[in-house]
Amino acid sequence: MFENLKKNKKFNLLMELKKNGIYDKAVLNVIEVVDRSLFVDENLKQKSNLNIALPIDCGQTISQPLVVAHMTQSLNLNKKLRVLEIGTGSGYQSYILSKLSRFVYTVERYSSLKKKAENLLKDLGANNIFFKHADGGLGWQEQAPFDRIIVTANAPEIPNILVEQLVNEGIMIIPVGDDYNQQNLKKVIKKENKILVENLMQVRFVPLVEGKLHK
Ligand code: SAH
Repeated sequence: MFENLKKNKKFNLLMELKKNGIYDKAVLNVIEVVDRSLFVDENLKQKSNLNIALPIDCGQTISQPLVVAHMTQSLNLNKKLRVLEIGTGSGYQSYILSKLSRFVYTVERYSSLKKKAENLLKDLGANNIFFKHADGGLGWQEQAPFDRIIVTANAPEIPNILVEQLVNEGIMIIPVGDDYNQQNLKKVIKKENKILVENLMQVRFVPLVEGKLHK
């Protein structure tokens, strides 16, 4: 009974994604097979197939599935690519990326979130994800350049340091704005020493916090 209800909710979620511009079959497929309830607390599990953001530890959030799907689709991934993710959070987006790319390098400023996500993703058998507790605003210099970069926290502007860590023809997806109400999800394509920027959609992310780290 509960399993059927869960399947119905997942079906409705996938319909909603398709209606809202998600056409990439590989992206729809991973959203279908990955159980988002594993990434949230017990009391939120029954809401995990709804198209809404949900709270996780440390006052952070796991993004709305439509936004995760849009960001992932816009990255144009394949199994040869190395991806840098800023903002591990629950690890949900990292896990989705790991199924569609070669390697994922994910950076989180809360040590506790990093550890929890790392343990969960190891348990799930994801062996192509590397975790780091650091200020992701600085990227991951030792592993650069990356084919793709995804930032899952709102930046005041497109960070130059991250553009520098992108390969030529590489793509970065990043929410940019002043505050919670005026954020635009941007697709940045690096071409030689220039960038092409396209606005994808209005979004609402927690802020990308510079500097000091958290236990
Ligand atoms: N991708 C996540 C969403 C996490 S919310 C998921 O699927 O669950 C954004 C995350 O970015 C938070 O966990 C926050 O702590 C982290 N963050 C914010 N500023 C950061 C920074 N400068 N460096 C690394 N992580 C940062």
